[in-house]
Amino acid sequence: MRREISVLVPTPAYSRLSGPLTYETDEDVQPGCLVRVPLGQRDTLGLVWPQPAGAPSGPSPHPLKAIHGVLHGIPALSANWLKLIDFAASYYQRSAGEFAMACLPPSLRDLSPLQFQRKLTRLKPAAPVHVEIADVPPLTPEQTQVLTQMAQQPGPFLLHGNTGSGKTEVYLRRAAQLLEESPQAQVLLLVPEINLTPQLEARVRQRFVHLGEAAIVAMHSGMTPAQRLNSWLAAHLGTARIVLGTRLAVLASMPRLALIVVDEEHDPSYKQQEGARYSARDLAVYRGQLEGAQVLLGSATPSLESWHHSRAAVADQPAPRYTRLSMPSRVGDSALPLLRRVDMNNQPRKTLISAPLLSAMRERLGRQEQVLVLLNRRGYAPVLHCAECGWKSECPHCSAYRVFHKGDRTLRCHHCSLTQSVPRACPSCGNQDIGVMGHGTEKVEELLAELLADMKRPDGSPLRVARIDADSTRLKGELVRQLAEVHEGEVDVLVGTQMVAKGHDFRRMTLVAALNPDGALFSADFRAPERLFSLLLQAAGRAGRDAQLSSAQACEMWVQTFHPAHPLFEALKQHDFAGFAAQQLQEREQAGLPPFSFQALLRAEARTQTAAQDFLNAAKALGETRLPAGGGGLSVYPAVPMSMQRVADVERAQMLIESHSRKHLQQFLSAWQDDLQQLRTQHKAVLRWAIDVDPLAI
Ligand code: ADP
Ligand code: ZN
Ligand code: ZN
Repeated sequence: MRREISVLVPTPAYSRLSGPLTYETDEDVQPGCLVRVPLGQRDTLGLVWPQPAGAPSGPSPHPLKAIHGVLHGIPALSANWLKLIDFAASYYQRSAGEFAMACLPPSLRDLSPLQFQRKLTRLKPAAPVHVEIADVPPLTPEQTQVLTQMAQQPGPFLLHGNTGSGKTEVYLRRAAQLLEESPQAQVLLLVPEINLTPQLEARVRQRFVHLGEAAIVAMHSGMTPAQRLNSWLAAHLGTARIVLGTRLAVLASMPRLALIVVDEEHDPSYKQQEGARYSARDLAVYRGQLEGAQVLLGSATPSLESWHHSRAAVADQPAPRYTRLSMPSRVGDSALPLLRRVDMNNQPRKTLISAPLLSAMRERLGRQEQVLVLLNRRGYAPVLHCAECGWKSECPHCSAYRVFHKGDRTLRCHHCSLTQSVPRACPSCGNQDIGVMGHGTEKVEELLAELLADMKRPDGSPLRVARIDADSTRLKGELVRQLAEVHEGEVDVLVGTQMVAKGHDFRRMTLVAALNPDGALFSADFRAPERLFSLLLQAAGRAGRDAQLSSAQACEMWVQTFHPAHPLFEALKQHDFAGFAAQQLQEREQAGLPPFSFQALLRAEARTQTAAQDFLNAAKALGETRLPAGGGGLSVYPAVPMSMQRVADVERAQMLIESHSRKHLQQFLSAWQDDLQQLRTQHKAVLRWAIDVDPLAI
């Protein structure tokens, strides 16, 4: 019998077709089934969606199109998964069709029902193997305490554990318990960047080797389409018991999800920065509740949001959302690094590496220990300039300077990628003597090689200074290779951007130095201090993992700063995350900033700044008519240029919407969507617009 079904198709984000479309079929298809349907002239993948309540049951007004076919052979996506998509699309103000399709592996979109059948018959079955289970270490008292709490309480949990306190071990143990309790249970282990954590994947595979190779799959955007489809199918069919993935994995279909771990939960890369701008951490918490899976967020430097949500309960106040678990001690006896501050006010002007820091480095290197030097700027110098006429290496297409890269003698814009060879003379006045301003990682690498040229390794060879940043690791596999060199001790001094401060443990590294972290102390971005504190504490945690080295001589974290008495450094010296967080949260509360308020940004891009702002201000005017009398605690601020105002000749503007109530903000945004779609048709100069809910950078 023919009947009508609702089907989500990949509609562009804000097209008027944002709901499901109606098709007809005589097959028995349930919500959650994948189908092929006609859309305009195309044949496309569709997801059968629950029939909207109160849908008309009479004959439809126009002839309906029939679906082309059903992708048989796999169970329908679960009702919970459909709810997750529905929630996420509406919370992040996107169409459900766009969101759902973005969550399915891309190659699924291209397979016909027949090709899909063939694919399924080639899948590897799960095959538990009989192997000796590797020895696991006895738990520390703190780990035991934390695991006991997790067995007794539902969560969600925030595990605040120092770097090296054994958090990963807790994740693995809790996963093992739940996987053992139920032979079908699945575990999702989220990490910020998979490239940076081959060590973790190896550790997971080793621990769960008895489940068989097919039981552990990775899921991240660096995989080929075929690999991604295989992982997705394994997760959906339940063959995969453990999925190890980046933010996109939070939307994987895992019908028997029992545990979601979000490692380094503070990491900004959990927030998608284009398309549907979702936060994988926040969706993990929602999903856990929806599916009855336990959620464990872990970090040595939790986000202030999560820290606040796990505050101690107070009588007569709503219960905090998360349960906080703590592991303050490091496994073994390895001590936390000491903080040393160099007051740059007392150093010669333009000092890049101060004398006390250099001599401390030489001392460490003399004992065959390793040194990590952080500078958050790649390239040789951020600006080239001409002292004669004042020319600077501005990018003609962006509101930014092009960076001087000495290695290949180029000027490169880090925003639009415009790359040109370095001019021999000033392009404006012909002066032959153009100079550099500021310094980047390439310069530090060069300078250190000079300053340490007299030092030798025990075998008489010179010390090796290496650099790891986005430039040195452009080629696939380079990052892993370079990190391995550091681990194997082939590198003595590692110079890098924040990319090396995450997730690795360098055993022989006993000195970490941040050359110029001051920018973040006085940044316009209210999250900058939080990020700096986290970066420095995490970087310090990379050091001193080798208990033997560090008990002989404590590890050190060096900071060169013009503000040595700044409270952030005081807290860092004490390794006092709680104190730092309390102080920051107090400031945020006074200023009415998140987590004490909720924010969204409306962004617009156009060829001119005026066109972009006109759209936003018109949107503001329409939005204000939708506000309840008195504003309902909701503020819509005027449009302003974005801090990176122009990129690749496109002008960017944004507007902040703020409320103390998440619910009010949500209601406002969904009502406003209609206005925005209407407005866009009148503002033809607008190239793109987007809403960013819970933005990370303002
Ligand atoms: P974190 O994730 O908190 O940084 P890890 O779980 O990686 O910490 O643990 C740090 C180091 O201590 C690792 O080398 C790990 O193998 C080891 N370790 C963790 N738990 C124990 C334990 N209970 N006994 C002995 N060693 C442990
Ligand atoms: Zn000049
Ligand atoms: Zn540019």
